[in-house]
Amino acid sequence: MLDAEVRKLRSGSDWSNLLEVAALHPTYGFGNLMLINLQMPDATWVARADAWARLGRQVKTGQAIKILTPIRSRTTSPAAVESAGEAGPAADVEQEVIGFRVGSVYDVSATSGPPISYPYLVANTGYAVARTLWEGLAREAAADGFAVDVRPLGDGSAGFTDFDSRRIVVADHLNDFRAIERLAHEVGHVRMHSPDQGDGKACTGLREVEADSVAYAVLARYGISSETRSFSYLAGWAKAADPDQPANVIKATGVRVTNTSRRLIESADEYLKVHGVMLGPVTLRPQDQLSPSPELDGPVP
Ligand SMILES: [Zn+2]
Repeated sequence: MLDAEVRKLRSGSDWSNLLEVAALHPTYGFGNLMLINLQMPDATWVARADAWARLGRQVKTGQAIKILTPIRSRTTSPAAVESAGEAGPAADVEQEVIGFRVGSVYDVSATSGPPISYPYLVANTGYAVARTLWEGLAREAAADGFAVDVRPLGDGSAGFTDFDSRRIVVADHLNDFRAIERLAHEVGHVRMHSPDQGDGKACTGLREVEADSVAYAVLARYGISSETRSFSYLAGWAKAADPDQPANVIKATGVRVTNTSRRLIESADEYLKVHGVMLGPVTLRPQDQLSPSPELDGPVP
């Protein structure tokens, strides 16, 4: 079933919708993001029934979203299970997963109970958020040994990564949000690509789709819309990369993009939190009145 869904991910809007689901659910793996997106494209906060029960909310059982839950071997350490997150086994524990079973999760819209607020707040992104997000991403670049420069670029381009001098350059003519988008794009290249691949140019073909996708997901997390989109070429590039099995290429791209976005989002979330940046409340679904609940700090596994 998943393969059939992957084959359908041809259009740019299908892909960006999947990236939005990924931005809101960074602990889920690509396969489960596909399943969630397929069954409920507008899902905004998905968790298991027991997690909703801990928040005092009941699920409407007829509205379950089916996902795949890993079955782990008995030798798996509790710490490994803990670190694997809800349903997206991290790469380092994957060898201990011995199969999958079908599990149920529920979107917030399929629950009822007392008012709650979202644990992550993604609307009304202001310049304080933008500045801190920029710093957080620059810190991620530095963790990989890449310095970030902002300077004029004579050719009108928005930026580039120089793998030789380990430097990311962002053009100084961009506004704050476009600069963040470019920095996320370049950090995406640093994390996913090597200068030895293909023709040595990072910003071409599937590599460009992947970097744009990471930037799109990271910005979507904080309510910032992206401008640059090469998604509409995804199907074409996938077919060029593997004429017989383009779906495999798209799947590999999806896994790379969601894994890279997850790490950047988790690190940015943490950086924003440490720096006390308050994100404005997001407008929820009508049945959920907003109330402050600072004790919630992430999607509950
Ligand atoms: Zn690029």
